[in-house]
Parts: sequence; C-alpha cells; structure tokens
Amino acid sequence: MNQELEAYLTDSYPTFFHYRATDETVADGMDPAIAHEIACDDGWFPLIEAVATIAKKQFNTRGDRETIHATQIKEKFGALRIYVNRSPDRITAATWMAQRLSEQMCERCGATQGTRKQSDTGWMKTLCESCGLEWRGVPEEVPVWQFTYECHECGSETPVLYPVGVGGKHGGAWEPVGEQLKTLTEGNIQEVFSEVQRTVVYGNCCVECDAYQGNYYVYEAAADRDLTLETTASHDHDATRVTTVTTR
Ligand SMILES: [Zn+2]
Ligand SMILES: [Zn+2]
Repeated sequence: MNQELEAYLTDSYPTFFHYRATDETVADGMDPAIAHEIACDDGWFPLIEAVATIAKKQFNTRGDRETIHATQIKEKFGALRIYVNRSPDRITAATWMAQRLSEQMCERCGATQGTRKQSDTGWMKTLCESCGLEWRGVPEEVPVWQFTYECHECGSETPVLYPVGVGGKHGGAWEPVGEQLKTLTEGNIQEVFSEVQRTVVYGNCCVECDAYQGNYYVYEAAADRDLTLETTASHDHDATRVTTVTTR
C-alpha cells in the first residue's frame, strides 16, 4: 500500500495499527524488524479502514478496554486477510466480511465492476479487466495473426485469428479485444459459450459449419507456429499478420 495511505491509517487509528514501525514507535523502543507493512495494493483501502473503524468503536464505546490491533494485513489467494491480536464476535464478522468483499473488488483501483480473480504464473489476484492487463504485462497494442486450422467438427480448413499475448497463461480470455476481432473480415469471430470456461467468450468459429474452435486449441496451434509478441514473420507455416488491436 502506498505510504500516504498507510500514514493516514496509522495516524487515524493509532491503536489498531500500533504494530507499525514509525519514527515515533521506534523512538518508543519498537523493534522495526518485527513491524509489518500493509501488504496489499491501494484498492482495498476502504475495507481496511472499515475494519479499523469497527475495532476503534469496540474499544471506545462498548466497555471493552483491552486493545484490538492488527497483527498482519496481507493479500492471500486473491483476498484480503486481516489478522488481529484477539477477536470478539464483531471483529471476526468485520474481518470475514472484508475478506469476502475483497474478492469482488479490484485490489489495485477499488473498482467493483468487472472484477475477477486472475492468475499469472502461479499468483492469484482479484483485479478489474484493465488492472489485470497491466498486471499480466499485456501491451497496449497486440498483433493479430491469421492461420489455417482444421475444424474439429467438419474437418474443413478454416481461417482462424489469434491475438498474441492477450489471453493469459492458457491463451483463453480475449474480452479486451473481442469486439475488434469480430469486425475483421479475415476470420469468423463470434461470441460463443465455452464449455471449458463455463462462460460466454469471443472465439473462432468454422467458416463452413460455424463450430467454435476452442481458444485454448487455437492458442496451442499459435504456439506451434511460434507466434509471440516478437514474431514479425512466420517462415515455416501459413501464418500472416493481419493487423494490430488495442487492449485498453
Ligand atoms: Zn482495477
Ligand atoms: Zn467446421
């Protein structure tokens, strides 16, 4: 979390965040080595502040004189975890609710629309579409390649389009460029239901029989043709670079 927000939380809720090493707490004898930072991105700030507010109320107004403070705050498996030194019912409820809400809230920008858990090389994060693209290092513009593919349904040769580097590890999620792909006459991109992803996706359909070809299989075929962001010409196969599309 950025230092300004952390400083705001520490100043506003000194009891709850007392474990943090500041100039003052270190002067008071705190060992900076045992202090933690708030180990998540800024988007979850409102959730953390809400829990701190509830802890403060518990301490001030409910006759509960033993302090409640956070012992660790971090992101784990794409959700916010707030650990506390002790946990009366309301605090348990508050930290549980913050965790559940964080799974619907972009950890980077706080957006609640279009967020989903995204994974990249073993890490999982809850992010909105555009923060997810940034996190996965997807460039703002990506090339689209066309190559010939054998339809799994009717066996015809059909042209397919492949946007390089948009879909993550398994090449599947083409949402950011789907509408642009649909307008390209070099292929037959439609919105179809994917049995694998259990949702509607943009994908290639056969020009003869309209069968969806499966983004993952097209992605594998593209990998066989060495189509990466760096590829400028494909010598071995029939692939041609059609155009570039913008991801955000
Ligand atoms: Zn975001
Ligand atoms: Zn077909």
